[in-house]
Amino acid sequence: MEAVESKKLPYNVPGKYYTTELCDGCAYCAAVAPENFDFEKSSNTYFVVRQPRGMEEEEFIQEAMDDCPVDAIRVCGELQPLAEA
Ligand code: SF4
Repeated sequence: MEAVESKKLPYNVPGKYYTTELCDGCAYCAAVAPENFDFEKSSNTYFVVRQPRGMEEEEFIQEAMDDCPVDAIRVCGELQPLAEA
């Protein structure tokens, strides 16, 4: 699936991974990588609360990214985010 451009959510901590406005709040990523994703109630979205510490967390994030139903989890540099929200 080709990634569509979408704005990076402002809550993401700086670093390699981030979520975008495509997030529909399904919570899958937080189930797979609970240390790395958290919920932002006002926008009903999940964001990267912690970049991976070690290979295991990196693998969990990759799994969440691969299976995110709306392709909202991105890697910096792979597709430039639109202007910060
Ligand atoms: S898996 Fe994707 S759509 Fe679901 S909460 Fe995480 S980032 Fe949002």
